[in-house]
Amino acid sequence: MSSKLVANQALMKQQNRARVVYALWKNSPISRTGLAKFTGLNKATITNIILSLQEENMVVHKGSLQGSVGRAQKLLMFNENYGLCAGIMIRAKNINLAISNVRAKILWSSDVPFSAEEPPLDVVDRVASTLEEGLAACKQYSENFLGIGVGTASLLRHEDDMLYAIHSIDWHNVPVIQYLRQRFHVPIIADTASNCAALGEKYFGIAENVSDMLYLSVGYGIGGGLFLGGKLYRGKEGFAGDIGHMTLDPNGPQCPCGKRGCWEMMASAIPTGKSFLELRQAADEGDGTAIAELAKIGNNLGKGLANLINVLNPQLIVLGGDVVHAGKWVMTPCRSTLQERVWPWVWERTRVEYSGLSSELGVSTPSIIGAITKVIELLFQ
Ligand SMILES: [Zn+2]
Repeated sequence: MSSKLVANQALMKQQNRARVVYALWKNSPISRTGLAKFTGLNKATITNIILSLQEENMVVHKGSLQGSVGRAQKLLMFNENYGLCAGIMIRAKNINLAISNVRAKILWSSDVPFSAEEPPLDVVDRVASTLEEGLAACKQYSENFLGIGVGTASLLRHEDDMLYAIHSIDWHNVPVIQYLRQRFHVPIIADTASNCAALGEKYFGIAENVSDMLYLSVGYGIGGGLFLGGKLYRGKEGFAGDIGHMTLDPNGPQCPCGKRGCWEMMASAIPTGKSFLELRQAADEGDGTAIAELAKIGNNLGKGLANLINVLNPQLIVLGGDVVHAGKWVMTPCRSTLQERVWPWVWERTRVEYSGLSSELGVSTPSIIGAITKVIELLFQ
């Protein structure tokens, strides 16, 4: 047999296995007949794949399904403790860590604060040691460590996985990923916080069946993650979605990036100097200034989003980050500005919603869940 034919067969085998693994993960508990229906593969192929997955402890039996005719069918279940997935989210003042099972259920989490004066690799070293403690604590669930997803609130250069810059603390070209690779001998996948959050929403949030989605993280700044045609869109260098510095008003306030009237200077919490939670509490108590500040942010969010909707035509826009605390005070003015500025036919088919993942673990939830999802996705390849 030619080596090309052998290679093709091996590739096909791997693809079939990936389809079964995904079908199991997505639809557990499921029968063999259900798997055949979902994957389009024949029962013999499925039986062979299931046998090898059972040997790997990836699949377990879970009761049976009594059909209207014939004998009961055994149900198969993806073993949720098949392995551990770690997520690391690098922010300007702290680094969040979490370890989950393959369903992104958080089993352990921690937070590593740091100061701008601390050498970056000393900080990364502390993060690695903290993660080792977490892995030891999670041994009771599984000893199979599947990988680390690293998200960063800064720019990440994709070609060499270099943390390009966190301007606020003067980290430039820090080899975080390279350092972690030397310390942990598992797959390590990096992406921006907003791309991670978009992925988290796609697998575990409100964007599950949506192929074109814009995720907007709005807090003390604005970041974006794009899902286009069912795939994460990064652009050539990986900097796509860095939309906080889109110009909204050329005569607007000065931004630290050097330009004037950047979107995040006008549509995030920056101009107020307060958190969205503080503003919302004040607004709920009838504070007119807070209500006006939130309305202005909502309007400015709508103005920028209207441009993006006209360019990208997404089905869904998810607002995540600290802004979820602002509730109706931002959402209502944002939607009414959109209604004024987007072509009615398009606006009727576009949803704008807050992230539902944000409330579970605090504001970092979608991005850390997304970082973990990067590891879970490896199972389907
Ligand atoms: Zn700017």
